[in-house]
Amino acid sequence: RMAAGVDDKAVVTEYFNNKGFDRWNRIYSEDGEVNKVQLDIRNGHAQTVQTVLQWFDQDDNTDALTVCDAGCGVGSLSLPLLYRGAVVTASDISEAMVNEAKRRAQQLMPHLMNKASFSTMDLESITGTYNTVCCIDVMIHYPTENAVQMIAKLAQCAEKRLIISFAPKTLWYLILKRIGDFFPGPSKATRAYLHAEDDVRRALENNGFKVRRTGFTGTSFYFSRVLEAVKE
Ligand code: SAM
Repeated sequence: RMAAGVDDKAVVTEYFNNKGFDRWNRIYSEDGEVNKVQLDIRNGHAQTVQTVLQWFDQDDNTDALTVCDAGCGVGSLSLPLLYRGAVVTASDISEAMVNEAKRRAQQLMPHLMNKASFSTMDLESITGTYNTVCCIDVMIHYPTENAVQMIAKLAQCAEKRLIISFAPKTLWYLILKRIGDFFPGPSKATRAYLHAEDDVRRALENNGFKVRRTGFTGTSFYFSRVLEAVKE
């Protein structure tokens, strides 16, 4: 096993620019060839995105917001937010992923491109402040000590709200992960790190944010806890 943390970023970047791009671009699409596991992950991830979009829709002010989508992937959240009228600043450490996000936006909403920006950068390099900062299914790629630093960074960029998802470290998921390690499959290209909800909440609180709404998606092969935290 690799030492925790040291090479994760380099491995993740390489992965999402190559093999991981092909895999996740397919998973994060509505059609196209996927196997049963990938279909399960596609549906699970779509539920997480729906949970977040419901929060935006309940507030009914998305068209007045600036949103930063850190680790935007192929734009699964950025695009619907753009469609709802937000000014969206999307970035990702993988050039391949963010280029695909931009391509999809251009194809579906050419008239809204003036409200969107897509750039290749790690979230540590994000500048500026935004009403809401979202970071969905990114922290799974990093150990908790890195995730805690990421939350501190994202909190600095969020004027009002942070929306963060992570794979929760519970006994059940620790067991499943252990079983997964004994049967390495095609998804074992990168490590998956689980985080204790207490650690994530403490990091949010230490940076002046208080959890307001929560969600959870668990399917057979996908699980994600999502927290909305607002500035106190
Ligand atoms: N947030 C997107 C979504 O929910 O559709 C994508 C989730 S995907 C599992 C994880 C993404 O995080 C990948 O696109 C990857 O390139 C990106 N990523 C990983 N580490 C990152 C970092 N340090 N800064 C920015 N993006 C990162």
